[in-house]
Amino acid sequence: MSGTNGIPFLDLVTPHAELREELCEVFKTALDTAGFIGGPMVQGFEQDFAKFCDTEHCVGVGSGTDALRFALIAAGIGQGDVVVTVPNTFIATTEAISQAGGRIAFIDIDEATYNMDPEKLREYLETQCDFNSSTKTLVDRRTKGRVTAIVPVHLYGQMADMDSILELAERYGLIVIEDACQAHGAEYFSNKENRWRKAGSMGRAAAFSFYPGKNLGACGEAGAATTNDAELAQKMRMLRDHGQARKYYHDMEGYNGRLDSIQAGILRVKLKHLPEWTEGRRAAAARYRELFADADAKIGLPYEPEWTKPVYHLFVVRTQERDELMKYLASVGIGTAIHYPIPLHLQNAYADLGYTKGDFPVTEKVAAEIVSLPMFPQLQADQQSRVASGVVSFLAAEKVAQ
Ligand SMILES: *Cc1c(COP(=O)(O)O)cnc(C)c1O
Repeated sequence: MSGTNGIPFLDLVTPHAELREELCEVFKTALDTAGFIGGPMVQGFEQDFAKFCDTEHCVGVGSGTDALRFALIAAGIGQGDVVVTVPNTFIATTEAISQAGGRIAFIDIDEATYNMDPEKLREYLETQCDFNSSTKTLVDRRTKGRVTAIVPVHLYGQMADMDSILELAERYGLIVIEDACQAHGAEYFSNKENRWRKAGSMGRAAAFSFYPGKNLGACGEAGAATTNDAELAQKMRMLRDHGQARKYYHDMEGYNGRLDSIQAGILRVKLKHLPEWTEGRRAAAARYRELFADADAKIGLPYEPEWTKPVYHLFVVRTQERDELMKYLASVGIGTAIHYPIPLHLQNAYADLGYTKGDFPVTEKVAAEIVSLPMFPQLQADQQSRVASGVVSFLAAEKVAQ
């Protein structure tokens, strides 16, 4: 950051300074017991996190990518199966699909929520796939692959429209695995069930990341998968540990994808603070809204449908002057970022999927206009005022110049 008066995009120092003693105790326990892998700290965290997500099971793993990959494999996604997701997400979502043996099919996003558009999902399933009702198989006409799963991503901390997605999944016999890596504690009001549901509790399984910058972050790499299916949980436990349920008896090949005890202990301490941190994020989001409304700023604010309670992993605004705005904010010491600048279907890594520019117009348009403003639980009101006045004065100056 430029100077002491800068406003960082993310502050990871303050929350750890506040918990320093407690976090150091975790390390001491690990040293004293030499419990570095598995054991009571991992089991304790898994219980706490399952409870937090309203699920029966939680399986601690090495990263969010591990969690998603293991969930897909355990749910039976096989070689060549088509797995549907969005192009507006972090590449880990699609890496997990490919690494599980699946073939990626993209669905464009909804322009208001930035999440998977259920209408476009329906259109894809109905007009670009053939359903054989006797064998109950759905085949993508273009790739001839069998469509087996959907991975909705709860991007920026807001849940995708799960009722609509689950209804389509049920109609076509598809497995739903949630990418909840940005949505710890987010909620969705299910009209179907007439109650609020937690992120990670609605699909067959879900993946969470505890990368340090996530809403719940480890002091290193970590992740978890949640599910209500005991058999699936058991499979994921084996996948993370070389395919063994008992030492040196391997029922299948697995991975080295375990959760460290030290990270589990740290996450357990931090999980207790997550509700208050989420409230901090929500308060900061509300404050940004007020500041921009008072200034009558010409900037697109995050849309919050009444059926969601987002956890604001990111606060993403929109303007056609995005690049210039970021440059200006950087010059006055305000950190920003783009999530994500290049849609996945246009990445070199996916050239072989055969997509081209124009295939997902909403994602492409949005990718050129979105910018994430500073957002973290300890963000101060005066810092936010400075961010907002920076944005407002820049946009006003642009207007005059035009
Ligand atoms: C962070 C993230 C992941 C991957 O998590 P890692 O712990 O970094 O492996 C997957 N999907 C989304 C949407 C993410 O934000």
